[in-house]
Amino acid sequence: MENEDFCAVCSIGGELLCCDRCPKVFHLTCHVPSLLSFPTGDWVCTLCRDVQRPEVEYDCEESRLPPHTPPSALSPCDLRKCEKLTLLIYSNILSAPFHEPVSPLARHYYQIIKRPMDLSVIRSRLKRSSSAHYSSAGEFVSDVLLMFKNCAKFNYPDSEVAQAGHSLQNFFLSKLSEVFPELSCPAPDDDSDSDDYEEPECAAAVAFPWPERREHSHRKRKRRRSLSWRRHHY
Ligand SMILES: [Zn+2]
Ligand SMILES: [Zn+2]
Repeated sequence: MENEDFCAVCSIGGELLCCDRCPKVFHLTCHVPSLLSFPTGDWVCTLCRDVQRPEVEYDCEESRLPPHTPPSALSPCDLRKCEKLTLLIYSNILSAPFHEPVSPLARHYYQIIKRPMDLSVIRSRLKRSSSAHYSSAGEFVSDVLLMFKNCAKFNYPDSEVAQAGHSLQNFFLSKLSEVFPELSCPAPDDDSDSDDYEEPECAAAVAFPWPERREHSHRKRKRRRSLSWRRHHY
């Protein structure tokens, strides 16, 4: 099996970790959860790892917690499921506009969207060190749906970003029912922004930076250990 050339999350090359079960490759910090070191043996990504009986343990913040850390309200299995869903969204090429917060320079965005949400926030809330760590899978799902709701609210329905958000939401919901068959999908809370004005103030002018998939790679660097790598040194 040939692994891909660019990170499944950020589409950039460099020092990448290869999954032994699927073609995907990741930067340590792009993978969910972020990894602290390159593993030495076989390794499977969050998308391939069994959520019930994980084949490998990741060297991540969670696994380095001191032994007597109180247990999280989010069970280890539910955490793995949420991480899997998060990485599924990140690895979908349509998710690029959702990776980071909308720029503070985006006209009117923060007047219209009262509860901004993006994948970087969701990813940070999966960590126990976060003061806003998820205490249930339902909280996680609410954040993901809020992100899509904001997208649908702010962008013209026929804009590229709105359509990406819509497709991505359908993708997420189908994966959600696979990963959490027992979890009924919470109804989107329509009241959250009820004090907002509802004019179709849209942001067609906001240009999201869509990453280009790079077609050619002359240097594949996939390593399981650290190497010095400069991104711009081709
Ligand atoms: Zn990456
Ligand atoms: Zn994999």
